[in-house]
Amino acid sequence: MIPFLDLKAQYGQIKPEIDAAIARAIGTAQFVLGPEVAAFEERFADYCRVAHCRSVNSGTSALHLALLAAGIGPGDEVITVSMTFVATTAAILYCGARPVFVDVDPVTWTIDPALIEAAITPRTKALLPVHLHGLMADMDPIMSIARRHGLVVIEDAAQAHGAEYKGRRAGSIGDLGCFSFYPGKNLGAFGEGGAVVTAQPELARRVSLLRDWGQETKYNHVIPGYNYRMDGIQGAVLNVKMNYIEAWTEARRSIAAEYAQLLSACSFGRPQPPWHSRHVYHVYAVTLSHRGDAQSALQDVGIGTAIHYPIPVHLQKAYAELGYGPGDLPVTEKLAKEFLSLPIYPELLPEQVVDVISKLKQVKPLAFAELTDGNEVHIRARPSNRRAS
Ligand SMILES: *Cc1c(COP(=O)(O)O)cnc(C)c1O
Repeated sequence: MIPFLDLKAQYGQIKPEIDAAIARAIGTAQFVLGPEVAAFEERFADYCRVAHCRSVNSGTSALHLALLAAGIGPGDEVITVSMTFVATTAAILYCGARPVFVDVDPVTWTIDPALIEAAITPRTKALLPVHLHGLMADMDPIMSIARRHGLVVIEDAAQAHGAEYKGRRAGSIGDLGCFSFYPGKNLGAFGEGGAVVTAQPELARRVSLLRDWGQETKYNHVIPGYNYRMDGIQGAVLNVKMNYIEAWTEARRSIAAEYAQLLSACSFGRPQPPWHSRHVYHVYAVTLSHRGDAQSALQDVGIGTAIHYPIPVHLQKAYAELGYGPGDLPVTEKLAKEFLSLPIYPELLPEQVVDVISKLKQVKPLAFAELTDGNEVHIRARPSNRRAS
């Protein structure tokens, strides 16, 4: 049995530290924000190498507030991708703005910078690249397009804690960076959590106000806001996990290197991070045309897999009103049919990595098996020769 994700294994390794931190947080009775959260914000800002971090209660809230802080509102357009978790699109819609989808690059699976300018209109206000699976989008061309057109850049770094692009950390290149601490993310809380990072003090100030009812001081509401504050207990848990994030990230990277090595002679598509990028492998996805057969064959031998993501946002029923349809984003749509995410977490053992790949290589595409098997071809040919009776 190799589960797709094993959150119990990680807790097991740091249980005494986590339990003590939670007890300490409860002892202070600072259940919302408070010293544990403040300490975490400082550490996470340092980790991202940006001046300011403001925690919130989810990655979705982080995106929502980053967009609001940047002044995005009704009538505005935000250019993003459809190959992402729906939260990216949902946050744009929460602001009353319109998401405009651009296809992804077939190698990096992140926004294709060559397609951005054609999508810019007089209403475009922001670019929202997503660092899919833990690999940062191609930020240099994205930033120069943004500068040329006067656009804000917001990074969706929910899957990319500690990822780097030419030596710069995820969240530190755009005007604002958004993170999620959902339990399954590379840095996971014991519940929901998120953060916005920025180098600009005015943007940080606006996020602070927006997450806490727009209060400048208690009961002095200077702008309409939200209840998006982080729990004290989540701050305590995240502070403990900050001691391990680098080691865990390196463990993910060695597992990915092992996968890459074992897959080197295969025709499957796999992550191809550019030399200047530090991929943090929140997800290790391969692409293969017989994805469905592979997923069920692996499930039969007790290996868990997942798909990130099987239906791109622009083809989701919930967002049909945006007016997109099949064929609009060909690379995104092909990836959605071929992606298969393999188990990857710091506690995965080297022999399990070998096992996953050897089982994956044994999977025969069913359609192919039928065509090469004489009997099957015969059986398949019969109905079309049969006369109607
Ligand atoms: C997880 C995720 C989010 C949303 O984060 P939550 O904490 O679940 O609200 C947004 N964007 C991407 C790319 C994600 O993977």
